[in-house]
Amino acid sequence: MEVISEKDEMRGIVERAKAGGLTVGLVPTMGYFHEGHLELMRRARAECDLVVVTLFVNPTQFAPGEDLEAYPRDFERDRGLAEGVGVDYVFAPEADEMYPAGSSTRVEVEGLSGVMCGRARPTHFSGVATVVCKLFNIIPAQKAYFGQKDAQQVAVVRRMAADLDFPVSIVPVPTVREPDGLAMSSRNVYMEPDEREQAVALSESLAAARELVESGERDAGAVAAAMRDVFARYPAVELEYISICDNIFLRPLDELEGQVLVAVAARVGRARLIDNMLLDVK
Ligand code: AMP
Repeated sequence: MEVISEKDEMRGIVERAKAGGLTVGLVPTMGYFHEGHLELMRRARAECDLVVVTLFVNPTQFAPGEDLEAYPRDFERDRGLAEGVGVDYVFAPEADEMYPAGSSTRVEVEGLSGVMCGRARPTHFSGVATVVCKLFNIIPAQKAYFGQKDAQQVAVVRRMAADLDFPVSIVPVPTVREPDGLAMSSRNVYMEPDEREQAVALSESLAAARELVESGERDAGAVAAAMRDVFARYPAVELEYISICDNIFLRPLDELEGQVLVAVAARVGRARLIDNMLLDVK
């Protein structure tokens, strides 16, 4: 495995591989790897000839006062884990390689970026769309792997790739969880032990929603109310939103029908956590 820090070198490697008939898989990350990241890499390894993982804590997706400086980092450990699952290249640029002085272009995916997490983080998804757009240009892979844990990110990236005509297929990968159900996240380390115990509220609320829908409930208000009942049992968890919406446009639903995204966000101590599930409602 090789670590590359310059855009031109990275693009050259990918272009030569594609000219030689290879399929390239891209896995964008901010590092501090856990099993969720490794699952994306394994999936790319299984489906592509050449696997490129990017490791970049992207400043444009953090607002002032968010956790850019505190974001956990451990490059040597990440390098070993990526190598262990058979990654070919890690692209780990410095911030000024990605955003040289004078950079001023932002990619804005309207509509999808302002709802759900976009309410608390109004500039976040334009930062994500901008960096992913740049990564698609630097690493013109045929397939790009994203975790379903960040469902809104998947929706934004799919829209951006379609709208800007990137010939890449976006592959969503199911959420990897801790044994008690908590979705794995680099930010889980921000929680104190008692907070960590209560963080199961998110996945438990989703399980309660699933159970209700499976028993025949189709009213979104009733499902959300059952989810709020779960949160009420966990005082350390401050619910930010529950969204019951379609999975493409993220428009809220009154009645559950078809592919339904049920998503939650909550604050637990220093951590802001998100989780979701997709339901196929007949
Ligand atoms: P991050 O480094 O947190 O930006 O995440 C990099 C990629 O890994 C994103 O596509 C995330 O959606 C994905 N990811 C993060 N956590 C998980 C998880 N628990 N299961 C599956 N994918 C995940």
